[in-house]
Parts: sequence; C-alpha cells; structure tokens
Amino acid sequence: MTKLLEGKVAVVTGGTRGIGYAIVKTYLQQGAAVVLCGSREQTARAALEKLRSELPDARVDAIWPDLSDEKAVKTAFDSVKEKFGSLDILANNAGISQNCPLDQYTEEEVDKILNINIKSVFVCAKVAAAIMKEQGGGVIINTSSVVSFNGQGAGCLYPTSKYAVNGLTRSLSRELGPFGIRVNAVAPGITRTDMLSVLPDEMIKPLIERIPLRKITEPQDIANAYLFLASDLASCVSGAILPVDGAMVI
Ligand code: NAD
Repeated sequence: MTKLLEGKVAVVTGGTRGIGYAIVKTYLQQGAAVVLCGSREQTARAALEKLRSELPDARVDAIWPDLSDEKAVKTAFDSVKEKFGSLDILANNAGISQNCPLDQYTEEEVDKILNINIKSVFVCAKVAAAIMKEQGGGVIINTSSVVSFNGQGAGCLYPTSKYAVNGLTRSLSRELGPFGIRVNAVAPGITRTDMLSVLPDEMIKPLIERIPLRKITEPQDIANAYLFLASDLASCVSGAILPVDGAMVI
C-alpha cells in the first residue's frame, strides 16, 4: 500500500512524548522524514533514540530550539531544509496546560503559558511559512483543544490560548492559501498523556461521563487526524478546526 506521506519532510514540535510522539511515529510509518522538537536536548535525544530503536529504517532527527525565539527557530528549521531538502509539514503541537484559579495566577504563570501556547505557535508558523512559500506550498497543523469552544472552569488562560490558536489557524488559512499552504488545527478532547496525569481523578471521572463515546481519546486518535490533514487526502481542507473528542461538549 502506498504510504500517505512518502517523500514529505515534517517538523513536529512537542514531539518527545504524548500526542507529539504519536504524530512523529505515525508520520515516520507513513514514509515522511521527521524532525522532532523537544524543549531540552536530553529529552529530545532520548525520544530520538527510542524512535530509532522502534523504527530502525526511519529518517528521523531531533532539534531543541527555544520555540519563542524567532532567530533560533529559523536556524533550526533552515537546518531541516538543508539536511532533508524541504519542509513540507509543520505539526505545531507543543503546549502546556494549567488549571489555576484566576486569583492565583502569577505574572510568571501568565507569561509561561502565553509564551509557549501562543507566541511559539505563531513563531513556528511564521518561520515555516516563509520556507513553504519559497518552495511553493506546505501544510501547517496546530494543536488546539476541546476547551477552545466553551472555555473551562479554572485555568482560564489555557482555553484563552487555544482560542488564539483557532484564530491564528483561521486567519493564516486565508493569508497563506494563495501560496499553496494549508493551515488547519486539531482540537483534542481529553487525551491520555502526561498532561492528563496532572489532573486529579475526581476531575477526570465526571468528564468521561459527559463524553458520548464514553472514552478518553488516545494519542493515536489525534495522530490519525494529523495524518489525514497532512496528506493529499485533505488537499482541499484548510481553515478547519477538527475536534477529536468523542463528541464531548463541555
Ligand atoms: P505532554 O505534556 O505529554 O507533551 C507536551 C509536549 O510539549 C512535550 O513534548 C514538551 O516537551 C513540549 N513542550 C512543553 N513546553 C515546551 C516549551 N516551553 N518549549 C518547547 N516544547 C515544550 O502533552 P500532550 O497532551 O501531548 O499535549 C500536546 C498538545 O496537545 C498541547 O498543545 C496540548 O495543549 C494539546 N492538548 C492536549 C490534551 C490532553 O488531554 N492531553 C487535550 C487538548 C489539547
């Protein structure tokens, strides 16, 4: 069977674990060369070694630029193009969650979440789009969240940041479409990753009851959506925010 991403080159931010790791693995299995981004050299190298042992024939590498620093991201993404010949897909996935009540937010917490969940997503899209424009096209996929539709009860800046991701996705799909660049987002529901493990059980159980499919989303479910959107099967799909959440309404 033909692989869906044969000949493509992808960068996956937040690729060391969770949803990002599942995207990296799926893209590799579908024939792409993949460069994963980690927040630290140590975790990026560890993920790289794991992938190389799981998929010995895969074309995979790792980088760890500060994603909010445009110069660092440009140097890193240029090196991907130089090494692999192009940058066709950006999976703009790195992000953090918070469940802090409004009156307990410190300025440091505010900066931290806005920096990774909004600024870094913007910077990576900006740098990747410049390369994609030059080569005549590409695909950018951002990770949003189910909470980007109705917010959440505490940790208001997390949904706020994901509303921004949706706004960026819709806007860039309009700005970059004429250059052959598709821009979409995937909005995961409650997904089984480290991000979920920080939430207390009493917060998770009632949420599952409210999911019509009565199950937690697996990282592979999200990676499958990322695969579809990156592939030519989605060649006319741009500006979409695709929920993968078991029909959850929160
Ligand atoms: P995770 O905590 O398992 O992984 C997060 C990834 O982001 C890691 O690879 C980490 O290295 C990277 N990252 C975090 N801060 C970074 C920084 N400052 N610089 C560079 N990289 C950084 O979480 P996950 O659940 O896999 O989350 C991935 C994406 O999915 C996030 O954008 C998150 O908001 C979104 N999401 C997750 C869920 C869920 O239930 N797990 C639901 C909706 C949306």
